[in-house]
Amino acid sequence: MAQKLILPMDNTILTASWQTEAYLNHFDCEHFGIDLVSATDDHEIYSLGDGKVIGVGRDGVLGNTVIMEYSKVVRKGSKKNIDVICRFSHLKSISVRPQQVVKQGRLLGIYGRTSMYPIEPHLHLEIDTDLQNPYSTPTILKSNFLRRAIRGTKMKYLFNPMEVLNIQAGILHTQTFTYTGTPFISDNDREEIPCMPDTPRKVYYATELPPLQSTTPL
Ligand SMILES: [Zn+2]
Repeated sequence: MAQKLILPMDNTILTASWQTEAYLNHFDCEHFGIDLVSATDDHEIYSLGDGKVIGVGRDGVLGNTVIMEYSKVVRKGSKKNIDVICRFSHLKSISVRPQQVVKQGRLLGIYGRTSMYPIEPHLHLEIDTDLQNPYSTPTILKSNFLRRAIRGTKMKYLFNPMEVLNIQAGILHTQTFTYTGTPFISDNDREEIPCMPDTPRKVYYATELPPLQSTTPL
């Protein structure tokens, strides 16, 4: 059965979009994912859907990482459902083990600042359809747990995670979404995000900009 993925945290702030030019200019590297933080002290991250844990490990560049696989995912603007790989990085702790089958909303871990770089705590999330190479990412040049992807080849699988994320306003999680007003947010991500199920929206928009990201690569 097709499934809609939810946000990985309940009070989500998007602090950096997928592949903005501003990010590339500022950090001198492309952003092949999105960065998220919680608007509250709650740093828990949840499974986006019903899926399976492909791998967990400590990566020398992107820190503690959980790799998940989700099947038959609904993608915005597409009639075709897709199977995806998701990599959750910079985790402080991990609450799942490889091969574990998890339900949507299940705790995967706590996000933190594990990374090769000095970063503020945030979640770096990458999503692609390259099921044969779940450990490969173009974000890194060389590492130990995750593997370097050949960018030209990998790019046809990668996409903006925002295209498959929905705000859950259900019983398990009542989520909110907003974004910072930095140049690292692309215009597309300012559009309304689908809310599921169709209960009153809990979307709000930031009036204050959290002092994040200016020193946060990856
Ligand atoms: Zn990132």
